Amino acid sequence: MKVTLQSLTKKYPSRNKKQPQEVVAVNDLTFEIPDGQLIGLLGPSGCGKSTTLNLLSGLQKPTSGRIFFGDDDVTDLPAENRGVGLVFQNYALYPHLTVKQNITFPLENRKGKDKLTKAQMADMALEAARLVQIEGLMDRKPSELSGGQQQRVAIARALVKMPRILLLDEPLSNLDARLRLQTREEIRRIQRSTGITTVFVTHDQEEAMSISDLIVVMKDGVVQQIGKPQAVYDSPVNLFVAKFLGTPPINVFDGTVRSGKLYIGEEAVLDVPGVADQAVTAAVRPEGFVLSDTGKLTCKLSRVEVMGRDISVVSTHPKSQNVTIRSIIDAENAAHVAAPIVRFDLKPNKVFLFSKDTEERIGF
Ligand code: ADP
Ligand code: MG
Repeated sequence: MKVTLQSLTKKYPSRNKKQPQEVVAVNDLTFEIPDGQLIGLLGPSGCGKSTTLNLLSGLQKPTSGRIFFGDDDVTDLPAENRGVGLVFQNYALYPHLTVKQNITFPLENRKGKDKLTKAQMADMALEAARLVQIEGLMDRKPSELSGGQQQRVAIARALVKMPRILLLDEPLSNLDARLRLQTREEIRRIQRSTGITTVFVTHDQEEAMSISDLIVVMKDGVVQQIGKPQAVYDSPVNLFVAKFLGTPPINVFDGTVRSGKLYIGEEAVLDVPGVADQAVTAAVRPEGFVLSDTGKLTCKLSRVEVMGRDISVVSTHPKSQNVTIRSIIDAENAAHVAAPIVRFDLKPNKVFLFSKDTEERIGF
């Protein structure tokens, strides 16, 4: 089911009497979620991710704008009639009910011609439980399950109605690192096998990048960029997006463009043809540095961290906005790193320039 958000805005009244301005949690959101895809809604805490999800689910009403599921305008449709499955960070299971009863709960109050028999409900619960591989735990109580198993029950409960849309709000945040990895792969597998259009909310860029068909990067209630994860990483539209994606994070320098060359300090480090003379913010991905005795960017070596396949060279530069510069270098080149000074060439496709005024990308 394709989902369309059209100029969606949500304002909350101010909670602070001294500052009567309202909070614009979601500001003029317009985008389309293609049928059957998994969208990662990504941004820092407070940027409006949960509000967007709650507007899609119908738990909250927008101040203005419309929401369409397929061709149906669902903006005024109550949550229970939208056919959405919801999963939250805190699994929100009923502690006194068994796994099976928790999963069948959304089916219990169907009335009239939609009413299901006990046997039908048991079949549907078993099918949903199989999808998340907890069919052996049906008679346990939530307190007898691990966090990961509880979250699977919550996902099964969201799937049992065969929702038109699956909405997941930071579903992995309460799990430990290993389970987080495993469960996110499970979610991906389930999404693929059911083909349910899914919105996955997270503040974790790696999580969003690893499972999404498309990511939507938000800041202060406004969409910054939408695209395939790799495309957004390779071509961020502004400094915020460049900084938000990638680990280790992108390295940011104060630079100047003069006569088609990028200067960092006194050194011309890269040709940037066609860029007008100006002060710029220059950002370099960690994998964009190449160790070279004749390299133009001269940094002071702090230390070398061995990471197996790669090494991480940690250095400093007076024009760096980060305390340290982190570059990822092939371990075979590690021999070069001994002197107190390290020199780098820069890979042009790993360097982005941004306007000092607008922080928008400047192409070259
Ligand atoms: P996220 O999920 O990305 O962390 P939210 O959607 O929860 O962000 O919140 C977006 C903004 O709206 C924040 O500034 C938050 O403080 C504000 N907000 C959220 N819910 C309410 C509410 N019920 N009343 C007032 N402000 C709210
Ligand atoms: Mg949230």
